[in-house]
Amino acid sequence: MNLSHSLLLGSFMWCCFTLQANTHDNMNATLWYQSSAEFKASAIQTYQAATLQLPLAIADKSWTALTNQKENYQQLPPAIIVDIDETILDNSPVAAQSVLLNAGYDPKRWDQWVAMAAAKAVPGAVAFVNTAEAAGVKVLYISNRECEKRTGSDDSCPQKADTLRNLKAVGIEKIDASQIWLKSEQPLWSSEKESRRLLAAKDFRILMSIGDDFGDFLPDVKKNITPEKRSTLVDSYQDYWGTKWFVLANPTYGSWQTILEQPNSQYLQSVPTTNN
Ligand SMILES: [Mg+2]
Repeated sequence: MNLSHSLLLGSFMWCCFTLQANTHDNMNATLWYQSSAEFKASAIQTYQAATLQLPLAIADKSWTALTNQKENYQQLPPAIIVDIDETILDNSPVAAQSVLLNAGYDPKRWDQWVAMAAAKAVPGAVAFVNTAEAAGVKVLYISNRECEKRTGSDDSCPQKADTLRNLKAVGIEKIDASQIWLKSEQPLWSSEKESRRLLAAKDFRILMSIGDDFGDFLPDVKKNITPEKRSTLVDSYQDYWGTKWFVLANPTYGSWQTILEQPNSQYLQSVPTTNN
């Protein structure tokens, strides 16, 4: 093989390797999440806005972020509901791993990651949580991390201790296991979070909800629903966004994506065709 042949072969391999890596469905979303100043700034902006609302929410006893918290809540102690994944903890290394392996989501790899308790914090999250706790507001971590036994252990929810360890490791100062409510920890705790929100509403006045998925705010929005209907719901709760509800950007996964029917290209809204 002469030099020009090897150069040709080299550039062919480079082209195709690059092409393969770039064509993973989650490549751009993961790059944006991990490397953009824009993501970092938007997360800080969200938590900054939440921090500014905090004194108002604490002082106004009629303030609640739960649409169904209507009676006998004014004197309850204040709490905030936060999601964990892609709200407090950044699990994008798992998304990056999938891109590099050219693979999809794998529950086994996910659980190995949870066990490592190595996630970094979403920018702005830790300062916000610590500010809230210092102001006497309990933070409840309602997460769809799933409780599942691991081989060789009787612990029905080893994920809970891992999650607590990770949350402490990123700098959350005041937290214990009772504040972490994981999926399937109790029989009725499904991926629909409404039952856990209702439980929280019994003991606390909920000042804010913070999450990266529409299901962190409202029930019945994660399946059998169209993007149009979800968009209408966003409008119906106009007054909540940025005051009581704070959403973190997550282009890498979420119910925004799983509700779409295939082919998902049908949802692209392109330039109207003309006769010219
Ligand atoms: Mg999440």
